[in-house]
Amino acid sequence: MPELPEVEVTRRQLEPLLVGRRVARVYTTVPSYFFLTPPTELRRRLRGRRFELVERIGKYLLARLDNGDRLLLHLGMTGQIFGSGIASVRLLSSAAGASLTPEAQLEAFRPDKHTHLRVRFDDAGPEVIFRDARKFGKVQLMRPDEPSERLDRLGPDALAARGRRLFAEIRTRRVAIKSLLLDQSLLAGVGNIYADEALFLAGVRPTRPGRRVTAEECERIARAVRKVLRRSIATGGSSISDYVQPDGSDGAYQDERRVYGREGEPCPRCRARIRRHVIGQRSSHYCPRCQT
Ligand SMILES: [Zn+2]
Repeated sequence: MPELPEVEVTRRQLEPLLVGRRVARVYTTVPSYFFLTPPTELRRRLRGRRFELVERIGKYLLARLDNGDRLLLHLGMTGQIFGSGIASVRLLSSAAGASLTPEAQLEAFRPDKHTHLRVRFDDAGPEVIFRDARKFGKVQLMRPDEPSERLDRLGPDALAARGRRLFAEIRTRRVAIKSLLLDQSLLAGVGNIYADEALFLAGVRPTRPGRRVTAEECERIARAVRKVLRRSIATGGSSISDYVQPDGSDGAYQDERRVYGREGEPCPRCRARIRRHVIGQRSSHYCPRCQT
């Protein structure tokens, strides 16, 4: 599932694909929970508009148009945003990907039934495509002052995580620190991978109740959150399942994970076996020796 680094990498590559370009035509699939703005309305209101900038708020992308409207994009679980003409095996369904020859896999992407949004511009440049096999992604076109429940409830961006504030927010909470880090109203952008990695670096066990985490540990956690997110952005994010960069390349952070998805493997620090524990229906990975 794309988290802050994957969304930020997408934003950086999407900016030159969108900014300054005028929409000629928009193609969508039929109405579904993917579209918070009905597809017919989306097609009508986007046509003729020019994109001015692309921002990121937590795990949301916001592309501003020349009339002040904002196009909100959320990658959900399996969302992929990219420019047309690219090739990646991650753009094929797993069934099709396995049965194709390597040459066929490298052919440029052709829109399929999972291609829910496709924007064509009035120049000869690439289209911008939003594909999502499981449709947990979201698209919404918001008026300039339209309030957004989704955006308004977000806490500070995780790249700006501060230990003092974290401590103040969690010091009375009985909930596990892992679940608190995933709470987007406390810190926007952290998901399962980076919460596990940050807690490992901070030496705090994910199951520990918030109120049992000290101020000094909150400082360490905030520092670790910033560190793992920055490092992941620098490596292009984690390409574990569907995530692909807008230019079709894979991220590389998955190779640097210390605990996430490494159950049973030796801890990179002390060699004890990494454990997996389900907290709030999410898998948590930790070292039983390094994290207390
Ligand atoms: Zn260890």
